[in-house]
Amino acid sequence: MLLEADALFKIKLLERIDYSHDIAVFRFEKPKDFDYKPGQYATLAMEHEGKLVQRAYSMVSSPLDNDLEFIIEFVAGGSLTTIMANLKVGDTLYLRNQAKGIFYLDENYTRHLMVATVTGIAPYVSIIRTLEKKRDENQNHQIVLLHGASIASELCDYLKELDVIARKGWLEYVPTISRPWDEPEWAGETGRVEDLLRKYADGFNFNHENAVAYVCGHPQMILNAKSILLRARFKEEQIKQEAYFPLELQD
Ligand SMILES: Cc1cc2nc3c(=O)[nH]c(=O)nc-3n(C[C@H](O)[C@H](O)[C@H](O)COP(=O)(O)OP(=O)(O)OC[C@H]3O[C@@H](n4cnc5c(N)ncnc54)[C@H](O)[C@@H]3O)c2cc1C
Repeated sequence: MLLEADALFKIKLLERIDYSHDIAVFRFEKPKDFDYKPGQYATLAMEHEGKLVQRAYSMVSSPLDNDLEFIIEFVAGGSLTTIMANLKVGDTLYLRNQAKGIFYLDENYTRHLMVATVTGIAPYVSIIRTLEKKRDENQNHQIVLLHGASIASELCDYLKELDVIARKGWLEYVPTISRPWDEPEWAGETGRVEDLLRKYADGFNFNHENAVAYVCGHPQMILNAKSILLRARFKEEQIKQEAYFPLELQD
């Protein structure tokens, strides 16, 4: 339902999966008039003490999916996520009717080097799901996706989903965790995602001459990854970025 006056849809929570104490995936009903490009973000809002609190969230879902999916980190003391943490299936929140952002696939390239911390995986999953659904359209995009988290549970079920797509040959998915001592059974990469950037970019031959890079999520990772990419001779305009919060406001 669209509330005409303020261009807000009211959307119902259909499913909620908690992956850790502060990471959850929410699936909402999608208003039929809400459209977006893979990689864009929505504005979600809730009322709190008579005021509308609204924040940006990248869609995880493909525009071709029936629902709207988001991965949300509950920030300690955060204005919106503290209320969102209490949402139950059947509850509603508001969605602004316009999707925003320009963090989508750069079609000038066919080789895409993508780097994410935890929730920063959202736009990439949207892009990859969409490419996967349109695979019969003879696309030749190749993606290397590095996904960093502290612990494996923060990678959510995207770990399995992306592993399955990666077997098809056009996606290399590299998850890494930075606290491996908590998870002796983890057999994948360890360490911060930016520390693996050169290893995988060079290993798969994704370089400044043939690829575009994308960095999304934690602002410190973005800063670190960008300086590594610039040293590897990527140009500024070859590096797309989506910082989820400002660096200077960190604790
Ligand atoms: C384009 C865009 C897309 C985004 N997509 C997502 C998404 O898919 N999933 C998601 O969870 N968030 C996403 N965010 C962040 C989101 O918009 C909010 O900033 C975040 O949820 C915190 O909102 P809050 O009201 O709870 O906290 P606030 O009250 O706004 O913030 C409290 C403090 O925490 C800091 N902060 C905000 N986020 C974090 C964080 N993750 N870790 C540590 N400190 C933080 C803020 O800078 C501030 O100092 C996105 C942001 C942008 C700009």
